[in-house]
Amino acid sequence: MMPFDIDAIRDDFPILKEEVRGKRLVYLDSAGSSQKPTQVIESLKRVYETEYSNVHRGLHYMSEQTSARYEEARSKVAKFLNAEFDQEIIFTKGTTESINLVASSFGRKNLGPDDEILITWAEHHSNIIPWQLLRDQIGCEIKVVPVDDDGAISLESFKKLISKKTKIVAFCHVSNVLGTVLPVKEVAEIAHQNGAVVVIDGAQGVVHMPVDVQDLGADFYAFGGHKVYGPSGIGVLYGKRDLLNQMPPYQGGGGMINTVSFSETTWADLPDKFEAGTPPIAQAIGLGEAIDYMENIGLSKIAKYELDLLNYATQRLSGIDGLNFIGTAPGKVSVLSFTMDCAHPHDIATIVDQDGVAVRAGHHCAQPLMERFDIPSAARASFGLYNTREDVDVLARSLEKVNEIFK
Ligand code: PLP
Repeated sequence: MMPFDIDAIRDDFPILKEEVRGKRLVYLDSAGSSQKPTQVIESLKRVYETEYSNVHRGLHYMSEQTSARYEEARSKVAKFLNAEFDQEIIFTKGTTESINLVASSFGRKNLGPDDEILITWAEHHSNIIPWQLLRDQIGCEIKVVPVDDDGAISLESFKKLISKKTKIVAFCHVSNVLGTVLPVKEVAEIAHQNGAVVVIDGAQGVVHMPVDVQDLGADFYAFGGHKVYGPSGIGVLYGKRDLLNQMPPYQGGGGMINTVSFSETTWADLPDKFEAGTPPIAQAIGLGEAIDYMENIGLSKIAKYELDLLNYATQRLSGIDGLNFIGTAPGKVSVLSFTMDCAHPHDIATIVDQDGVAVRAGHHCAQPLMERFDIPSAARASFGLYNTREDVDVLARSLEKVNEIFK
């Protein structure tokens, strides 16, 4: 196995050579969106320069080429998640659309007013609002699993709320604010014993650890390209074939039909049934390249490197006066959210930006979670495979400055 060569990896990301306000860019917002390696950037260029046409529509050479590349990308994603069949991979425009697809299609077909949907307090709005829209249409109930003070979400808490009324258990693999890794496999077992389906928001999961949807017991698993070093505008919904086959289309249009007449229209087979209209073609191919890139380095190696960096950052930032971490659950990954006694998170982000450091500040699309921790917002440093201890040191020195300015 090749060693984890951080210098070579950093060289793969052209943007890391950019200067921000005359300083080296220290990019600590990968949980928001990650940067892209040359391999991905070049693949987009190559598609448009040499391989581009619409997919599945033409009998001409270019369309055949592009369709083949597009389907190759689907196979790469299927292998990446260990899906049983390529058809279980639906391309969407992101995690958000993937979850909306499940809520609209599976939810409307299978849930009624007496049913319950279980989510957690740690969800991103993308895994709250689609279920609320469904609830408002059919009158079912949403129950919410609590988060402990350290950011952990225990199996016991799930057990207390799952019942025979539960039809969907939808939760994040990893919290985008707390970094907590949820006990997916164990929860899935209980959900299945109660006849519920399991929907995993994998936006922050799949980028930090190897994911095997069959082993986890996920019925649906959603993620987006832009967090896994791939393009934006492309997302994935993995769904078990039997479930997807029973579900009605989510959107209607070209490409998703078998026959159309004014009296009756029949649907195409999977995965086309769920891919109405021209899909994000180059983006899907770019996502395939991003997966190749990560797999060439090795998912486990990336996870190990990031964990070491997270531990270093946790230790380094705990030395900063008045800094409070949000989320310290055992086994957490790659995200450090915090507040400081002396300054608002927006001020923190603005001040460290002067040193070239990009951190996120705000509610992180998780307003209920902010309420749970009784804070209006938080600052968040999140790490990708290209970050270094030096990045952490620059952040720490810059946070000391925040203290100097506001105290
Ligand atoms: N879920 C989580 C946990 C996220 O962190 C994000 C993005 O920040 C999303 C969902 C939304 O993902 P997308 O931008 O792919 O729709």
